[in-house]
Amino acid sequence: MLDDGMTKREIEGRLREADGARLKELWRVADETRRRYVGDEIHLRGIIEFSNYCRRNCAYCGLRASNNGLRRYRMTEGEIVSAARAGAALGVKTVVLQSGEDVHYDARRMCEIIRGVKAECDVAVTLSIGERPFSDYDAMRAAGADRFLLKHETANRRLFAELHPDDDFDERIACLKELRDLGYQTGSGNIVGLPGQTTGDLADDILLFRALDVDMVGIGPFVAHSRTPLAGYSGGSSELTLRVIALTRIVLKDAHIPATTALATSDPAGRYKALQCGANVIMPNITPTKYRALYEIYPGKAGSLETPEGNIARIRRMTESLNRPISTGYGHTLKRAVGTPPGR
Ligand code: SF4
Repeated sequence: MLDDGMTKREIEGRLREADGARLKELWRVADETRRRYVGDEIHLRGIIEFSNYCRRNCAYCGLRASNNGLRRYRMTEGEIVSAARAGAALGVKTVVLQSGEDVHYDARRMCEIIRGVKAECDVAVTLSIGERPFSDYDAMRAAGADRFLLKHETANRRLFAELHPDDDFDERIACLKELRDLGYQTGSGNIVGLPGQTTGDLADDILLFRALDVDMVGIGPFVAHSRTPLAGYSGGSSELTLRVIALTRIVLKDAHIPATTALATSDPAGRYKALQCGANVIMPNITPTKYRALYEIYPGKAGSLETPEGNIARIRRMTESLNRPISTGYGHTLKRAVGTPPGR
C-alpha cells in the first residue's frame, strides 16, 4: 500500500520498481497527496549563500576546508540585508541564509544579521549554517529566525562516518531535536546516489524523516566534485531521486519538499518533474551574482550564472505552465501553530 504507514521493505520495493504501471501509480499517488495536504501553491525560498568558508571536510563537498583551490568569500551584513531586500522585492517570502560552517559569524553576528533582515523585509528567515552549540541556536531563535535546515545526508551510520570524517551522526540528530525543542521549523534531507549507498539506506532515510517528524525535507542527487575524495564517481540518478521525493511525500504527507537545484543540475527538467511528484517548494538563488560561482558545493550548479531576476522569472514561467500559483504567504509549517515548540 502506498500510504504513510509503509514499511522499509515496501519503500525499498517501490524504489526498485520495474513495472511501468506501478511506477505510474507512485507518481499519481504522490501528486494527489501533495495536492490534498499542501495544496497547489508553490513557495519560493530565496537562498543567500553568504559565506563559502567551512571548517568541515565532508567528502562530497567542494566547500570542504581542505579544498585549497577555492577562492573564499564572506558577505557583509549590509550585503546580506541588501540581497534579502532585493529578493523580497521579487516576491520571495522566505530568505534562507546559507553558509559553510563558518564560525566567523558567531551568534552575536548572526543575530544582528537576522534582526537586520527582519527589520527591513517582510520575510520568514531560515538558517542553513550547520552544527552550533545549543546556546547559539537559542540566541538566533530569539533574534527572529523561524526555521533551520540541517540535512542528515544519510541514515547509514557507517557511510555517514566515512563521508564526514570530522562529524558524528548522533550529534547531528541531537542538533535537529534541539532545534525542534527551541521552536524552529526544522528541515532535514539526504543525498541520493552516494557511492556505497543502497536502496535500503534510502528507505531508512525516509523512515528517519518520518521519525523526526520534520517540517521540511531537501532531497537531491549526488553530483561529484573534482576537488574532493569522491571525484570521478558517477552522479546519483535523477529518476531515483524523483522516486525518493514521491515516497517521502506519501510517507510524510504535509512536509514542505523542494524541487532542488541539485536535481535541476543532473536533469534540466528535474524541478519540473519533481513538482509533479510531490514537491511544493522552489529555492531560487538570490546571492549577488559576483559570489555565485564560488559557492561550489558541486560543479555545474543549475542557474549559477543567472541573475536573481532571471532565475525567478524562469521559475514563474515553469509554475504557470503547471497551472500552479506562487504563494504570497510565508509558507510556514502546516504541522502545528508557528512559534509553539512541540510538546509545550
Ligand atoms: S557539506 Fe556543509 S559542512 Fe560539509 S564541507 Fe560542505 S559546506 Fe561544509
